[in-house]
Amino acid sequence: MWFSEYQTKDLKISVKVKDVLFTGRSKYQEIQILDTVTFGRALVLDNTFQTTEKDEFIYHELITHPAMFTHPDPKKILVIGGGDGGTIREVLKHDTVERVDFVELDEMVVEVCKKYLPTLSCQIDNEKVTTIFTDGIEYVAQCKEKYDVIIVDCPDPVGPAKGLFEKDFYKNVYKCLEEDGVMVQQTESPIFNRDLILNIKRYLEDAGFNIVKLMVYAIPTYPSGFWSFTLASKKYDPLEVSPEKIRERLKNIETKYYDEDVHRGVFLAVPKFLKENIPVF
Ligand code: SAM
Repeated sequence: MWFSEYQTKDLKISVKVKDVLFTGRSKYQEIQILDTVTFGRALVLDNTFQTTEKDEFIYHELITHPAMFTHPDPKKILVIGGGDGGTIREVLKHDTVERVDFVELDEMVVEVCKKYLPTLSCQIDNEKVTTIFTDGIEYVAQCKEKYDVIIVDCPDPVGPAKGLFEKDFYKNVYKCLEEDGVMVQQTESPIFNRDLILNIKRYLEDAGFNIVKLMVYAIPTYPSGFWSFTLASKKYDPLEVSPEKIRERLKNIETKYYDEDVHRGVFLAVPKFLKENIPVF
């Protein structure tokens, strides 16, 4: 059988499926685990690919390491969303980390991923991780903690995730970061969501972040195959971290995608149409 995701109303991606391993409905969304021929096991929420075994390393290494290496000594980390656990796994590769607060809306996503996606979810039960099942928007609005790094591993800006892309959320993220804190967020397709990406940059600057930088990269299973993260920092510029320093810290960390060259390249390769007012189509 085939599974199709409508990436826009006029465009779909279809994958051949060997088996449907799980299908169920939580309070928040429809959850599926598909065993696909090309991408291995895939987590699908409301008919939208969230992650697949084959290409997840690209996303999870890049949402985690550029921000973690921008901070010289990341100890206390907040992860919002990311119910599959891939980001938690990458965060815990840093031996500076003392505590990870993992704020995910949907308990069922975490339970299902623990069972069917063990290579991603393998560190969720690590003793450094505190899992809190609540809305990340509410959490940062009420939070009195201060973090070194906040990672927003969110789905598309619809339903309960919509507020994760709004002005007030960024103001609260700023408030929950230490004076030298760094945040990073999944910010959609540069091809299909250029205006959203430019708005997010403005919202983050208005929230008070001194440095806001886009990262772009290719990934096969997300709309347009070209995807982005936005990093915002109060003090440290990711491009001022020396390659020697990254190489040194990487000695204890295993990666398949990220290294000192990718760290620079992912920020430097931002195309002109995202920096100047040039229409894409
Ligand atoms: N890599 C993915 C992508 O780009 O689509 C994101 C994956 S991760 C599974 C997204 C998680 O965010 C989901 O498990 C979902 O339940 C969670 N989520 C959605 N809205 C949320 C919110 N307001 N607060 C916390 N978690 C949220």
